[in-house]
Amino acid sequence: MNSFDVIVIGGGPGGCAMALDLNRRGYNVALCDQAKFPRDKVCGEFISPGADPILEQLGVLNAIEALTPKRLKGVAISSYESAEMVIDYPLSTGSELRPTSLSVPRYQLDALFLKQVQSAGVKVFEQHKVTDFIFNDGCVAGVQGWDETKTSFSMTCKVVVDAGGRNAASLRKFSLKRESKGRSKIAFSAHWQGVRLPEDYCYMHISRPGYTGISSVGNGRANVVLVVEGSALTSAKTENPETFYHRVLMQNCRRSKMVESGERVEPVRSVASLAFAVKPVPCGGLILVGDATGFIDPFTGEGIYLSLRSSQLAGEVIHAGFENSNFSKNFLSVYDQRRQQEFRRKFLLSRVLQWLIYNRPFCNRVMKSLSSNRGLAETLVGVIGDILPAEKVVSLEFLSKLLFGTLKGDEILDLTKVLK
Ligand SMILES: Cc1cc2nc3c(=O)[nH]c(=O)nc-3n(C[C@H](O)[C@H](O)[C@H](O)COP(=O)(O)OP(=O)(O)OC[C@H]3O[C@@H](n4cnc5c(N)ncnc54)[C@H](O)[C@@H]3O)c2cc1C
Repeated sequence: MNSFDVIVIGGGPGGCAMALDLNRRGYNVALCDQAKFPRDKVCGEFISPGADPILEQLGVLNAIEALTPKRLKGVAISSYESAEMVIDYPLSTGSELRPTSLSVPRYQLDALFLKQVQSAGVKVFEQHKVTDFIFNDGCVAGVQGWDETKTSFSMTCKVVVDAGGRNAASLRKFSLKRESKGRSKIAFSAHWQGVRLPEDYCYMHISRPGYTGISSVGNGRANVVLVVEGSALTSAKTENPETFYHRVLMQNCRRSKMVESGERVEPVRSVASLAFAVKPVPCGGLILVGDATGFIDPFTGEGIYLSLRSSQLAGEVIHAGFENSNFSKNFLSVYDQRRQQEFRRKFLLSRVLQWLIYNRPFCNRVMKSLSSNRGLAETLVGVIGDILPAEKVVSLEFLSKLLFGTLKGDEILDLTKVLK
């Protein structure tokens, strides 16, 4: 039986970053993915500028730049067909250049990332689906599953990292998923050619029954993502998803102006996109990173950054585990604490923004506040882009400025409800 120091499940950004990190620390790492790469993924495809230093540290940034991706300057937001408000990422201290976000097709990005992992010396097993875990003394000590020829495989290790995304094997095995109480969402995406985008921004158009994110991904292509509440598709009854996607895109005059001159160049892909939280792992020998740790609705587009960053945090704790020969549940729980401490406010912000965009009067109010206060707008986009800490905006004072332009006594009560 193959034996490794660490087995990583999943070759998305979280799994690849994890494998590279541990490989650099000198560990013998294997990575299994059920897919054959290149494989595609429904995604807005822009990566928070905060991810650049992590990608550089992992040694993959230059290779990504060689794909000639687009660099976006920030976001342009339109609320219920209002004119788009353009917001640049804010200048960071000590720099004269404003940060930008990479925008690159996942089909290319993930395949490149996995190739880098393989070149670094990680043993990569594509088309290997992990279906169960091997246990030793109540701790996870390996994985087993099926390869592309339906032959079973098993491997042992000291610690398993599950980076299997929203349907990760450990979420099922240990019943860890806590579905959100919110309404279910469905996301559609497709690449287009000839879309008329005025500048290099991610264009977010908010309106009923959902919102779109449109951005150039380089090489003359634009990614057009639509996210709607599940009920919108159900009430469309017999309409097929592709017709639905086109109809809803064209319903909003702002975005129809952008895409009407273009042509969709691939089939529309869709994914149910319900937010969920995850309970703590009940045993030692197992750590979760990336989307497997929970998922927030993609409006703020930062899942890739969170996957990379959670892998960094996990790398530190796993390294300490090797130094102390300790992969107990207790020892590894430090990782959960650090991750929650760092991401808690970001998740809260995302929840507040989700609530705001589906509430037309509030959404319009926020747009009004942002357009009359550039500093406020850039700070918000800086936090969303992971270049400013979430503490900057997750406060009653900031949120009330967003909603009311100033702090109003009796309205604080409503905000307190949202923040709970
Ligand atoms: C509509 C939408 C738009 C989004 N837009 C953005 C955006 O613009 N920017 C952004 O940063 N994020 C965005 N996200 C979020 C982003 O896509 C995810 O956060 C990111 O892909 C998570 O990376 P990951 O490595 O954790 O998981 P994934 O990328 O999902 O990778 C998981 C991998 O694990 C493999 N796997 C799963 N189970 C097994 C198994 N049992 N055995 C072996 N392999 C397995 C899968 O094949 C897959 O390759 C969006 C998400 C959605 C739904």
